[in-house]
Formats: sequence, structure tokens, C-alpha cells
Amino acid sequence: MRTKIVAGNWKMNLNAGQTQTLLQELISQLPQTSAAVMVAPPFVNLPQALSQLQGLPVEVVAQNMHYADSGAFTGEISADMLVSIGVKTVILGHSERRAYFGEDDGMLAKKVAKAVEKGMKVIFCFGEELPDRYEGRHFEVVQRQLRNALFALPEGAWRQLILAYEPVWAIGTGETASPEQAQEMHAFIREQVAGAYSRPVADAVSILYGGSVKPGNAAEIFSKPDVDGGLIGGASLVATDFLAIVNAFR
Ligand code: PGA
Repeated sequence: MRTKIVAGNWKMNLNAGQTQTLLQELISQLPQTSAAVMVAPPFVNLPQALSQLQGLPVEVVAQNMHYADSGAFTGEISADMLVSIGVKTVILGHSERRAYFGEDDGMLAKKVAKAVEKGMKVIFCFGEELPDRYEGRHFEVVQRQLRNALFALPEGAWRQLILAYEPVWAIGTGETASPEQAQEMHAFIREQVAGAYSRPVADAVSILYGGSVKPGNAAEIFSKPDVDGGLIGGASLVATDFLAIVNAFR
């Protein structure tokens, strides 16, 4: 049985007061669920979130980190810093990091390896762009992203990995991959992991779908056998929407 996960990626949204309000709303309506629920606020609001969610079944996750241990990297945050305040999971490889901040597969391989070394779990994001899909390269692109960033890791590291397939054309656009497109790609991803490692490793890794998941489409996407949950952007900023997506697992 794989862990089912619903994670909210808040991106660069919500100041301190707004963070407190959204967390209060989430806490007051938190459903009983078999899914692991996570929220990823911006760095400055992580301590606030950790304190408000203490003892509750919602994990606080970071949106990024640097691959170096420490040093002259102005504006960056290390794995040690995250671990030291109680953050155990980090999102890496989000398409916005790749597109706007020049994060390529090589840099992401270093980031993932560092997070794993520090005992963190990683939600590793990847996915093709629209022209890749139009031109039928989407499987090839995803295969290359996985191989370059993840497949040099030792097998034991996979206990710390969560995959998040996020077709770039579906992020923030209101356009989702159809449940069939998601299932087709998730099954392909699992096959790649099985080929690079083993069937048990592939069967154990949770693969989330991300890209315009909303209350209205979550249940159908999550019903697919190789879809183990979602990474939610826009809809995670509204408590009722995010919790409706969490409830799509019931
Ligand atoms: P979206 O974002 O749900 O707003 O499309 C998903 C993501 O970027 O993780």
C-alpha cells in the first residue's frame, strides 16, 4: 500500500497574517483522512506554520533549498537550516524553479542528493512542456528528467522520495491532464523506476499528479491506480477547496 498524499504548494503567496488565517481555517475543518496532508508555505512563514500545526496531522514542507551545506550563497537556505527548525520534507525541481531560476537536471541531482543525505524527504517535480506533448516527446522528456536527476541515487534513497508529475502546460492554466493522460504517464514513470531499480522500489514510491487539480476533478484523477495523490497550487490557497481535494480520497 502506497502512501496517499495531498500537498499544498503555496508558492510566493500569503504574508504572515494571511498564513495564520489560512492555517486556522484548515485546522478548524480538518477531516479524518487516510491521506498524508502537507502544506508548503514560503520560507519566512515556516516557523509560524510549524507552531500552528504542532501535534496536528498536517506536515509543513519547504518549497526549495540549496545543495551546499553552508557558505557564501546570499539569499539561499540549506537543508541543515530546514531540519534545524523541524522541516523534514522539501519540494525540489518545481517547473517554476526550472523556468525562472535556471535549475537544471544537474543542479537538481545535487539538491536531491543533499536532501537525502540530510535525512529529508523530497517531493521531486518534473514534467513536459506543451510543445513536448504536441510533438510526442513527453515520455522521452520525463524519462530524461528522472534519469538525470534521480537514477544515480542508491536504491535506499528511494524510501525518501515522492514523485510529482506536473505537466507544465497544466500548471496554473486551468487545463488539467485528463485522468487517462495522468494514469498513462504515471504508469510509464513507475516502469522507469522499476527498470532503473526494481519492481518493489517502483511499487512503493508515491507518484503525485500536479497541474490545476481542483475540487471538481480531484476524485477522478485520484481514482487512477498509479496516481497516489496531488500537488496542489492555486486551490491550496482556499481552505474549503484544499480540504475538498483532501476529501476526494475518502
Ligand atoms: P496549480 O499548481 O494547481 O495552480 O496548477 C500546481 C503546482 O504548481 O504545483
